[in-house]
Amino acid sequence: MMIDLRSDTVTKPTREMLEAMFNAEVGDDVFEDDPTVKKLEEKAAEMFGKEAALFCPSGTMTNQIALKVHTRPGDEIICNDLSHIYRYEGGGAAFNSGASVRLLPGDRGRIKASQIKENINPDDVHFPRTSLVVIENTSNKGGGSCYEYEDLKEISALCKNSGLMLHLDGARIFNAIIEKNYSPGAIGDLFDSVSICLSKGLGAPVGSVLIGDKDFIKQSRRVRKVFGGGMRQAGYLAAAGIHALDHHIERLEDDHQKARIIANTLKQLSFVEEVFPVETNIIVFKLNDHYKDRDFLKMLESKKVKAVGFGPQLIRMVTHLDFTEEMLDLLIKELKSI
Ligand SMILES: *Cc1c(COP(=O)(O)O)cnc(C)c1O
Repeated sequence: MMIDLRSDTVTKPTREMLEAMFNAEVGDDVFEDDPTVKKLEEKAAEMFGKEAALFCPSGTMTNQIALKVHTRPGDEIICNDLSHIYRYEGGGAAFNSGASVRLLPGDRGRIKASQIKENINPDDVHFPRTSLVVIENTSNKGGGSCYEYEDLKEISALCKNSGLMLHLDGARIFNAIIEKNYSPGAIGDLFDSVSICLSKGLGAPVGSVLIGDKDFIKQSRRVRKVFGGGMRQAGYLAAAGIHALDHHIERLEDDHQKARIIANTLKQLSFVEEVFPVETNIIVFKLNDHYKDRDFLKMLESKKVKAVGFGPQLIRMVTHLDFTEEMLDLLIKELKSI
């Protein structure tokens, strides 16, 4: 039995999810003829209290579409220096939108309204026009950290008062929602657009949804086509997404619980220098010099445990739907045996 903790993207559809996919009613979604895609889009929009939504193949695409629609070439986007849109989307802000990025340091991926305020460029021909702020919640590279609602509210108010658009990279927003106890509707109120991933903790095989007002989604649909993301009988995939939203949100608490147990175990082990705070389903820890990171990962793999490197001597593990109680017990045993 392989224990795969590289990411929460490694899950396979459950039997019930496969049945929902098998039974989906589909049509050609580029003609806007797919009733299941429409149902998913309406459901996601309604959850976040927005007018409309757009089903896309990946979270990179939903983010990149949002950057494209919210900016003009030459504009500047404000985000944290650990942001997925900056680090892990292949330079897409420049490639797709001709935008530059203003990177703010933060607290494990989180930034503050006061910092944003200091970094809005004045209306002067020397400076790029600041047009968009992107917030990531939970923060991936920040180790699954999440924002307090009050901090998001301040950021939202600042953006409104300053005429800036505000996008949420909510690849793991449901982990934050479960941990911090805010509602999707309350999150939707604060942002002009929201990207959610169905293929992370929610366990769908493919898909992300971009959520916003009608005009924004109309423009996004055009950009999705240009990016090559118009899909045909995508209802089979959307059915998995609907099933995930209906059945796999509340259970994220189990993933968080398991992550805390792993972190508490790691803290007691001789090869661990530091375990970063665990807020949701991501565990990041630092090895001391007993092991080089690469050797450690190889040794774990020989014990049938997969994790990923996350920087010098840093290891990341992510808990998910397919990581069972039995696997947790086995993992703890293996870690203690090292
Ligand atoms: C995974 C992820 C994305 C999008 O990823 P895809 O693999 O393109 O679906 C975006 N933002 C964050 C924070 C992520 O973790």
